[in-house]
Amino acid sequence: MSHQRIRLDGDRQAVRALFALCGRRRVILIPIIVLAILAFLLEGMGIGLLIPLVDTMLGSQGQTSSQVGFGAVLGTLTDWLPEDHRLTLIVVLVCLLIVLKAAVIYGHHMLSVSLTSHVGGDLRDRLFRQTFDIGLLTIQRLGIGRLNNTIDIQVWKVCQAFDTLTHLTASMAASLVFLCLLLLISWPLTLAVIGSFLLVSLIMLAVRRAAQRRGRELVGVNADLSGRIVESLTHQRMVRAFGTEHLEMQRFHLASEAVRRAVWRTELLRGIVAPATELLYVPLMFGAIGLGLLLDLGMPALVAYLLMLYRLQPHLREIDRQRVELAAHTGPIEDVVTLLDIRDETAPRSGHRPITRIQGSIRFEGVSFDYGVAESAGVDDISFTIPKGATVALVGPSGAGKSTLIGLLFRFFDPTAGRILVDDVPLTELNLADWRRRLTFAGQDVELMSGTVYENIAYGSPDASDEAIRAAARLAHADHFIAALPGGYDAPIGARGLNLSGGQRQRLTLARAMLRRPDVLILDEATNSLDSESEDVVLQRLHAARGDMTLVVIAHRLRLVRHADLVVVLDNGRAIECGPPAELMSSGGAFDRLWRRQSAVDHHDWVPG
Ligand code: ADP
Repeated sequence: MSHQRIRLDGDRQAVRALFALCGRRRVILIPIIVLAILAFLLEGMGIGLLIPLVDTMLGSQGQTSSQVGFGAVLGTLTDWLPEDHRLTLIVVLVCLLIVLKAAVIYGHHMLSVSLTSHVGGDLRDRLFRQTFDIGLLTIQRLGIGRLNNTIDIQVWKVCQAFDTLTHLTASMAASLVFLCLLLLISWPLTLAVIGSFLLVSLIMLAVRRAAQRRGRELVGVNADLSGRIVESLTHQRMVRAFGTEHLEMQRFHLASEAVRRAVWRTELLRGIVAPATELLYVPLMFGAIGLGLLLDLGMPALVAYLLMLYRLQPHLREIDRQRVELAAHTGPIEDVVTLLDIRDETAPRSGHRPITRIQGSIRFEGVSFDYGVAESAGVDDISFTIPKGATVALVGPSGAGKSTLIGLLFRFFDPTAGRILVDDVPLTELNLADWRRRLTFAGQDVELMSGTVYENIAYGSPDASDEAIRAAARLAHADHFIAALPGGYDAPIGARGLNLSGGQRQRLTLARAMLRRPDVLILDEATNSLDSESEDVVLQRLHAARGDMTLVVIAHRLRLVRHADLVVVLDNGRAIECGPPAELMSSGGAFDRLWRRQSAVDHHDWVPG
């Protein structure tokens, strides 16, 4: 699997990556750049009009050296204005140009904002889609905190980088326009000025490199902080129960401090750009005045030149500042591009065969799965058959491989050896979405979404009727407590169903699973939070309503597996026994020993798990 972090060297690569992230929307950059050029052309024209304006005021038309180049062009253009009102008309023209430029700048700004917001939205969608396209194990490896940080915070930073990019294009357009106009007024002076600009830009290169390093550091510490927040918030109960709030606060503080320090270091660099460039440009101004006088430019042209140079300066400063900004945003760009670029070969690919119903058995043939982690056993060479309509129990201690087998059945990951056959067809050939619709899962980790009770039961069954939803709730023995809730089925439950008891939440997930009327229902300790009485009711109702539904049960309480048709005993990733429970109970093997031990415990009224 390829998820090496992508590194972008220099702001040019960052800009290229930004263009690529824009996708087809990058065409909007063309009108953005055109509008920027137009805006500054209008401004340049306005400043250029100062030459005939000053000429007119001095009454020195035709005599000064401003009547060459750009000054001459504008002079000719204004010559046809009636002499009596020339001054007023030039002033009106300058005002008109200012208003027009303001309107164009507004259009440029709105187009830029529209591009940035759309690209941001597209990126969030693409990244979120990517979390479903990469394998479940890769998601675990990357960490929820990091993913959350990338989709939420880093996309914002990439949006800021887009914003910087559009501002950079505007500043570059402005500089280009002003430089052209300066060249038109006096090319020798302007060549000297360009030489000095390049010198300043070279000095700023070191700052850009440092900003890039700081930007990367910031992404890393932000991901750590996000990870800490997600972990601590998801384990609130454990933290409080173990009284480790202080430890969590300490860890959080350390992560938060690291972010603060990284932000501070980045801002120190950013802050230095504006004053440093300003200082560097001061001698340039004086140099230009001296050289202008030396070249005998003439007063009107020199005034216009200096004014234009003065207007050019902030744009040049902005170019330097924005390049540093872009460099600082390289880290977030790399982060987003890296996640988008992950091509996870371990993610199961859908097969082409449709499946609308499981007709026969599901067969595990020498199935092994290796998590690729040294201390993890995974499962090794497992073979057994789940006949249609049967109840199969997977039994074994923690870490034996039960959940791994369920993961393989759902194709969260595929076997590293062996295969699973459904109606004699390899599972990998079946359409993945079709196949997953045939199975449903209710587990001990209750996964409820924010929304009402009704929405939670209907989750995954969008076409279910009102009656079917209520019937599923009855089947899961949830109808009474739902009726007693304020609002009944419309009662809102928290993001993780926090205002319901463990047993109530488990009954809702059971109702949700049963509503889908799957061909195979997997119950992974799905009733362990219920009292024995409720558990009996649920199981009785389920057995009465199941029809030819296949049941796969994972349970520590052996009384639940007594009525199974087949028991598979797992230990350390291997199937050590397999057969009907009555047979295994009398065999003197592992299941028999487990059974005897638990019967003795049950006798003392204690239930493990
Ligand atoms: P059970 O469900 O019986 O408790 P599992 O199937 O969860 O057992 O685990 C089987 C083996 O696989 C154990 O050695 C466990 O450490 C390992 N394992 C399970 N999940 C992962 C995972 N996500 N990454 C690495 N190893 C895992």
